[in-house]
Amino acid sequence: MRIANLAGRLVLVTGHPAEPLAVDVAEASGGRFGPDPMSAFADWAGFRAWAAEVDAQGVGFTRTDLGPPVPRPGQIFAIGINYREHADEAGYPPDSLPVTFTKFASSLTGPEATVELPEGNVDWEVELVVVIGTGGHRIPRDTAWEHIAGLTVGQDLSERVAQLDGQRPQFSLAKSHPGFSPTGPWVVTPDEFADPADLAISCALDGETLQSSRTSRMIYDVPELIARLSAVVTLWPGDIIFSGTPSGIGNARTPKRFIRPGEVLTSTIEGVGELTTRFSG
Ligand code: ZN
Repeated sequence: MRIANLAGRLVLVTGHPAEPLAVDVAEASGGRFGPDPMSAFADWAGFRAWAAEVDAQGVGFTRTDLGPPVPRPGQIFAIGINYREHADEAGYPPDSLPVTFTKFASSLTGPEATVELPEGNVDWEVELVVVIGTGGHRIPRDTAWEHIAGLTVGQDLSERVAQLDGQRPQFSLAKSHPGFSPTGPWVVTPDEFADPADLAISCALDGETLQSSRTSRMIYDVPELIARLSAVVTLWPGDIIFSGTPSGIGNARTPKRFIRPGEVLTSTIEGVGELTTRFSG
């Protein structure tokens, strides 16, 4: 199952990924679910059971009408240094706890967004984003996937000057300018993947591939992230987790490279889809 936020309304996405169709959930469920995209997470098990029985064709739509599939998560977790090669390029040894910060919710935007570049050096970080379906505290690793609603594509856009120049790092602020958290195009449930733990992940700027890896190369894989985060924090339905980026960020290149006005960033995860993010000055 795929769910999306189409012009602020919860939809099921049907049809071939290249020609997706949308079924309006509020209309198809007679008002039991929707129209708010967050309503799917109020009763995720009930929503999944209902969605499995829906027999509706859907209608075509315009991608630019898609918003972030989870527009108002209760909590956003973001993980730093979670791929070995990226830990090396960033100069951090892996820690016993995943490096955890937040991206404030006002930075969320959809899969076809134009982002205004603030002052500083804006960098790319393609990431697998995990969406919580059933919350919990102290979730064991071996049942972690049962708590996951699905996966989507994310960009953890980062302004490196404010992030790194002070005496203490400012991850959360430097990664939360308006539009700095593109997500989408939809949430795909784990059962849709042959192996949801091993997906190709990449991003390209103006067609040049800058990051390319597989999600199986994470230091803390998805079940481990759920277990270690929920060992401390209670996870809520509809929370999202940016699970870290592979190597290839602009700040670690020689010479360093950052996003310029007019450039187009494409972020792709196998079996999910892609984000197209444009930048203005
Ligand atoms: Zn990141």
